[in-house]
Amino acid sequence: MKKLLLAFWSAAILLVIGPTTGGAIDPVVAQSTERIRPEAIRAHTEFLADDLLEGRSPGSRGHKLAVNYIRAQCEAFGLRGAGEGGGYFQKVPFVRAIVEEKETTFELKAGDSTRSLVYGTDFVMPDTHRDTEGSASAELVYVGYGVTAPEQGYDDYAGLDVKGKIAVTLWFESPPSFDPAVRAYYAGHEFKRANAAAHGAIGALYIRSPAMETLLPWAGVLRELRIGGLSLRWLQANGRPNGLDDALEVFPMLNRSGAEALFANEKWGLDEVLAAAQKGTPQRFALSKSATIKFHSRHEKVESDNVVALIEGSDPVLKDEYVLFSAHVDHLGIGDPVDGDSIYNGSVDNAGGCAVLLEVARLFAASPERPKRSLLFLFVTAEEAGLLGSDYFASHPTIPIGQVVANINVDGVTSLTPVSDVIAYGSEHSSLRTAVERAASQTGFTVSPDPFPEEGIFVRTDHFSFVKKGIPSILVNVGVKSTEPGVDALALLKQWMVTIYHSPKDDVSQPIHYETSARFARFLFWLGEGIAMDSERAHWNDNDFFGKKFASGRR
Ligand SMILES: [Zn+2]
Repeated sequence: MKKLLLAFWSAAILLVIGPTTGGAIDPVVAQSTERIRPEAIRAHTEFLADDLLEGRSPGSRGHKLAVNYIRAQCEAFGLRGAGEGGGYFQKVPFVRAIVEEKETTFELKAGDSTRSLVYGTDFVMPDTHRDTEGSASAELVYVGYGVTAPEQGYDDYAGLDVKGKIAVTLWFESPPSFDPAVRAYYAGHEFKRANAAAHGAIGALYIRSPAMETLLPWAGVLRELRIGGLSLRWLQANGRPNGLDDALEVFPMLNRSGAEALFANEKWGLDEVLAAAQKGTPQRFALSKSATIKFHSRHEKVESDNVVALIEGSDPVLKDEYVLFSAHVDHLGIGDPVDGDSIYNGSVDNAGGCAVLLEVARLFAASPERPKRSLLFLFVTAEEAGLLGSDYFASHPTIPIGQVVANINVDGVTSLTPVSDVIAYGSEHSSLRTAVERAASQTGFTVSPDPFPEEGIFVRTDHFSFVKKGIPSILVNVGVKSTEPGVDALALLKQWMVTIYHSPKDDVSQPIHYETSARFARFLFWLGEGIAMDSERAHWNDNDFFGKKFASGRR
């Protein structure tokens, strides 16, 4: 049996049986769990989100301080280094690209007339890592969502010729008839880019739907792009940026004004195009215009660390299998000031997630009985720049990646109010659903469905780097069922996403309910324990889309 502390016992009763919380906790769990410390979660969060760490941008001094802190904590808890050379770190090489806005141009030609779009107002140019300059001059073809999905019987490119042309497509949109997670996969930039290249296009030009404008307003796009910290790609051994080894030269994104100019005097105007796409029946057609697009960009090399720490399993055979917990350390760094504050502290996103995971690591390390499988704690860099630290680890694993049975990712623990539920994004794809339900009922939570299916969260956090390696993976978070009378936790969260998320306001002044974070940490502990002790290895559901796409050949 694990240690029982009297203090915890009484706290557990207060926490779990009192009217402000959800269901009852399993008495075995209550008795066998090392005391979870809300104050430790608060203390880690306050350190990592302090102004002194300057928003933990990858490669910055603040990020180095953060990973040193996490390494020190892991070592003090008794975790072993499982990074490069048996240490705690894995160094990730990056190139950072900052677009030279004045030298980046977009000319739209219609017959004899040319219109110059204005950088920042009409268009932006993300992702200029391949070279310090580039250009494309070509005809434009509108390809709707830009999706080719044979297993869904769907192809936006059918009957279109985009060879040597620029494919115009909707940013982060895909056929609404698809299952939400499948829809999110096909909506992703990475898929659309590869598909455009596979069809012979030399550029991809993105337009934005009104729904996307609500989700991420243009001002937010500009703000994030101008924070150079976000504009990264990891470098392959040959020194080339990863993910850009195809024929695409340019991939700009248009604001509404730019998109209006694009579709002016065409067979269908912008509003008709957007309305049809929203209904799931996009027109696809060659535009009468062509575009000449040029960019200049400044490059610099950056290094930043992942932290990898291990608790070895107790079973002589199963210890070579791993349950992988992950959380990203980085945030946006220093950027455009909002109300006089320019430090993007990332307190909830994701100092809080790291803090919760540190407490879970401590609990495992302090338990006298270790689970059979090993537990790997991975604190990654450059999530905000596109899941890069996790993608690098998945591509350069310091343990055999085929031996990772599951990934549990923690990102943005938004305990704004006490809740009685947890959410496990993506658990419907694998046996992890059962593990989540078991751990939730052991720790007095219910499991709620994804409250934001339209946001495609399944493809937007670090666990997706492991899905692509065929590993059953989930993102877990506190839920949306408030236990405070009259408080609507979902409304609070939605409000938070619009007013605080990715702004300098996500700092230590956020009203985090650390008791709820601690209850969530207890859930994570039992989730990890359950997966690590299960007689069966976690597996994808039969015929699951992601299992079939990425896990064929895995045992
Ligand atoms: Zn974030």
